[in-house]
Amino acid sequence: MTAPLDVLVVGAGPTGLALATQLRVHATRFRILDRSLDRAHESRALAIQPRTLEALAGFGVTDELVDRGNPTMRLRMHLPRRVVQMPLFDIGLADTAYPFLLFLSQAETEDVLSEHVAAQGVVIERGTELVQLEPKGSYVSCRLRRRDGEEETVDARYVVGCDGAHSTVRTQAGIDFEGSAYPQVFLLADLEVDGLEPGSVHAYMTGTGILLFFPLGSPATWRMLAMRPPGTPDTEVKLGLLQEIVDAYTTDRLVLRDPAWMTDFRLHNRGATRYRSGPFFLAGDAAHIHSPVGAQGMNTGIQDALNLGWKLAVVCQGAAPEELLETYEAERAPVGRSVLRFTDRAFTIATSRNPALRLARTQLAPRLVPLALRATGMRGRLFRTVSELGIHYRHSPASSTGPRSSKRGPRAGDRLPDLPRGLQARIAGRGYHLLLSGPPDLWPDERLAPVLRGRADLVSVHRLNEESPWPDVAQGLVRPDGYLGYVAHGTHVEGLCVYLDRWLPTT
Ligand SMILES: Cc1cc2nc3c(=O)[nH]c(=O)nc-3n(C[C@H](O)[C@H](O)[C@H](O)COP(=O)(O)OP(=O)(O)OC[C@H]3O[C@@H](n4cnc5c(N)ncnc54)[C@H](O)[C@@H]3O)c2cc1C
Repeated sequence: MTAPLDVLVVGAGPTGLALATQLRVHATRFRILDRSLDRAHESRALAIQPRTLEALAGFGVTDELVDRGNPTMRLRMHLPRRVVQMPLFDIGLADTAYPFLLFLSQAETEDVLSEHVAAQGVVIERGTELVQLEPKGSYVSCRLRRRDGEEETVDARYVVGCDGAHSTVRTQAGIDFEGSAYPQVFLLADLEVDGLEPGSVHAYMTGTGILLFFPLGSPATWRMLAMRPPGTPDTEVKLGLLQEIVDAYTTDRLVLRDPAWMTDFRLHNRGATRYRSGPFFLAGDAAHIHSPVGAQGMNTGIQDALNLGWKLAVVCQGAAPEELLETYEAERAPVGRSVLRFTDRAFTIATSRNPALRLARTQLAPRLVPLALRATGMRGRLFRTVSELGIHYRHSPASSTGPRSSKRGPRAGDRLPDLPRGLQARIAGRGYHLLLSGPPDLWPDERLAPVLRGRADLVSVHRLNEESPWPDVAQGLVRPDGYLGYVAHGTHVEGLCVYLDRWLPTT
C-alpha cells in the first residue's frame, strides 16, 4: 500500500492556489484538484488588499499582480449637488510596501497564481471531483471522480476544503454553515462607460441605494454594481436595464457600452461553525461568504490558506506537534466572524430602505464621512482594518510574550511590519526567523546555542542592530506566515527556548 498523501487540497480557486503555493515551498506531499476544467474567467473579486500583497510577496508573485493591476487611491462620492472626493489608503500605512488597494480581476489573480504553481512543478488536476470522504484512523480515504466517470481512491492525512460556498468537504465533515441570504438581487457588469472620470472608484448615493463603478482594466475598463430595482422582471441582465438604472441614479450622462460580462446574484452572510473537524479543514468561501463590501472575500480566503499551509507542512514533517493545527481555527475563525459582522453592517447601511438609514446614507454620511476621515487617528484605524494589515493573533495559544515585555514595537501575534522598509523582503525565506535587536555584540553565538540546537535548519537568525522595529534590545520570532509568535525584550532567551520547545520541539 502506498503511504497516504500529507494533504489533499480540494478546489483550485484563489484559496486552493494560495495553499498549494505554500505547501510547495515546504516540500509537503500534496495533490490539488478541481472539478471544473478551467480556472475562473469572470472578474468576480476585483480588489487585492495590502496584506494579501505582502503575504504573497514572499512567494515572488506580487510584482506580477501589481504590474497587471491598477493601484487606485481615490473614492469619489457623487451626491445630488456635489461630489466629495476622498483618498483610499493614504495614511496609517507607512509600514507596508503596498499602501494601496490593487484593482485586478479575479480571473487575472487566478492566472498569476496558476502560472506560479505550475512553474513550481505543481499539477492542478482539473476535471476531478471529490465525491466522498471516509476517515479511517490515521488517514482519510477520499473518493475522486473524473469527467470520464473513472474513479480513484486516494488516502490523505489531512483534507482541506477550498471548494467554495457549496463545499463538499464541509458537508462530508458535518460542519454547519449558519446564516442567511439578503433579500436584494444585485446586478454586476464589466463594461465600458463613457463620461466617467478614470482612475477613481465612483459611488452614486441615493435614497434607493448605491450605484458603484470600480476601475477594473481587464476584461473591461469598469465594473458596475447596483441593486436590481424592485419590480423589474427577474430576466436575463441586459445592457438596456443597466443604462436605465444609471440614468435614474445620475445626471452625469454616463453611457454604458461593450459589456464583457453581465450577471445577477443574491448575496449571503454565512459562516462555518467550525474551521476544523478532525482531519478536515475549511478555508475561503467554504468557511465564510458575505457581501463584497470592503473587498474582503477573496483576500480573507487567501490569508486563511497562508495561515494553514505552513502549519500542515511542519506538522507533516514531524517538526511541530499536532496541537499547532488547533491554532488555525483559534486564529482564523475570529477573523472570519469579524468580516461577516463588518460587511453586514456596511451592506445594511448601503442598501437599506429604512427611512433613518436612507437619511444617514444620503444626508449624514456625505457630511460626516469626510469630517471623520480628516481625523487622522480614525482614518488610520479604518484603513488598517479594511487593508487587513490590522489583523492580529494576539490571543492565539501560539502567541507568547516573554519577560520584561514592553508595549514599544510590534507584539506577539502582530504581523511583522515592513519597518524599516525592506525588512519583510529580507526574511522572506521559508521557516521561522529570529530577529534580534540591539548591538550585535549582545547576541554572541553562545547565547543562541540553546535556541538553535536541533532546529538550526528551521530557524534563521537576523541581527538587526539599528534597523529594527523595536526601539530597544528585543527578540522577535517570526512565523513562516509573517506573524510574530514570540516577542521578548532584553537578552534572556529562556522564554524563547520554552516557546520553541512547545511549538518546534527538537525530539
Ligand atoms: C458573481 C460574483 C461576484 C463576486 N464579486 C466579488 C467581489 O467583488 N469582491 C470579492 O472579494 N469577492 C467577490 N466574489 C467572491 C469571490 O469570488 C470569492 O470570495 C472567491 O472566489 C473565493 O475563493 P475560493 O477559492 O475560496 O472559492 P472558489 O473561487 O469558489 O473556488 C472553489 C473551487 O472549488 C471547486 N470545487 C467545488 N467543489 C468541488 C469538489 N467537490 N471537487 C473538486 N473541486 C470542487 C470549484 O470548481 C472552484 O474552482 C464574487 C463572487 C461571485 C460569484
